[in-house]
Amino acid sequence: MTSLTDLTITDALSKLRAGDISSVELTQAHIDQIEKYEPQVKAYLTVTAEEALKQAQAADDARANGSDAPLLGIPLAIKDVISTKGVETTAGSKILKGYVPLFDATCVARLKEAGMVMLGKLNMDEFAMGSSTENSGYFTTHNPWDLDRVPGGSSGGSGAAVSARTAMGTLGTDTGGSIRLPGSFCGVASVKPSYGRCSRYGLIAYGSSLDQPGPFGRTVEDNARILQVIAGQDPMDATSMPLEVPDYVAGLTGDVKGLKIGVPKEFFVSGMQPEVEQAVQAALKVYEDMGAEIIEVSLPHTEHALSVYYIIAMSEASANLARYDGIRFGARIDGDDMIETYKLTRGQGFGDEVKRRIMLGTYALSAGYYDAWYGKAQQVRTLIKQDYEKAFEQVDVLVAATSPTTAFKLGENMDDPLQMYLSDVLTISANLAGICGMNVPCGFDDNGLPIGMQVFGPAFGEDVMFRVGHAYESATDWHLRKPALIS
Ligand code: GLN
Repeated sequence: MTSLTDLTITDALSKLRAGDISSVELTQAHIDQIEKYEPQVKAYLTVTAEEALKQAQAADDARANGSDAPLLGIPLAIKDVISTKGVETTAGSKILKGYVPLFDATCVARLKEAGMVMLGKLNMDEFAMGSSTENSGYFTTHNPWDLDRVPGGSSGGSGAAVSARTAMGTLGTDTGGSIRLPGSFCGVASVKPSYGRCSRYGLIAYGSSLDQPGPFGRTVEDNARILQVIAGQDPMDATSMPLEVPDYVAGLTGDVKGLKIGVPKEFFVSGMQPEVEQAVQAALKVYEDMGAEIIEVSLPHTEHALSVYYIIAMSEASANLARYDGIRFGARIDGDDMIETYKLTRGQGFGDEVKRRIMLGTYALSAGYYDAWYGKAQQVRTLIKQDYEKAFEQVDVLVAATSPTTAFKLGENMDDPLQMYLSDVLTISANLAGICGMNVPCGFDDNGLPIGMQVFGPAFGEDVMFRVGHAYESATDWHLRKPALIS
């Protein structure tokens, strides 16, 4: 029999519904897996094993009484930037050490209503700033495919836990690629929803015009099941859209006949690892063989995306992070007066990357530079968005690589922030444009590391994105492989 930690969410739900397994057994199997692999992988900042078993028992009792719910009894874990009532939430930062939210983020509240069992909180780059999880204020997460390599970031814990089978699915957040990049580096499927598809209420804000929570899972279908639960308008977030959420699982037909797949030529960047490019080309061939039409498209402003993103994200971050002053949340280091207390708390509570971004963001927003930097970046952002709108007049989805390279070595990019920022070159424009995108595993490089491809849908076109991602998965078996370390 497949071990309980190898089950997909979809399979586990049928077994739970048939009474073949209980949620307590399923949850215990994941807790055992956490005990076995966490010392090496380090995906979790907090494990809530005891509480998880109570929730699992409650799920089994509810089922015994004839209830059901979309994720009843399924053990999941949550990125630590997402508020969880009664469970410490640090956003990977020392400045929030000891902060225990009084409320659940809307996405967590919805998962609980849908029957989730919560295993714990996952490691991340501090305040979601980074591409490797090495900026965590606590420790670095290791990639289960090669422990000397990064899991990607900033939701590195969310990717590593799904790949190490220490959670059946997870939530991450994506401001410029933080869901898709770790999906790619860890060889799992992961989704950045369209801006406004999910509520941001209860997410600790990084770049408010870019942030979205979204799922990780071992299959596209598992992702669809989680997004189904967390998507939809929320009165607590005025930017969540009052649009109907389609039935994503019902739309997984396995068929792409007649669909038009656009390939943005600007996404085949110089310096791309050859195996990555070959894997994406091979995936396009799979689609062609299934009856899709492949069309080259152009997104001419792509070359400006990285600069625009880092100006906007840092500007928004500098404003959002002003609230951490040692008075209201988390850690406080007392000085002789209030100013000294702010200085000590912020000086010691924030890591280097966060300070760098607060400084650059404050600079870009300052009176003399606002128009030249922030204002200009917003104008170019509109051009980038228009590129996508034009492309989606011609095609149903876009396909490209998720990252120019596979997972890099721990420490490799730590002294060179610009090199680190380049990991996001293929993911960030989706956030600037507000469209949806997902990572789907599409091969391995010569070192046995996973390669990921992105499928982009138009804004609120998650249904077609899922359909295209799922069709590829049905025709290939990359997503079924697991790291040699993990049993
Ligand atoms: N790596 C990018 C950054 O550091 C994206 C992070 C994210 O999506 N949260 O800003």
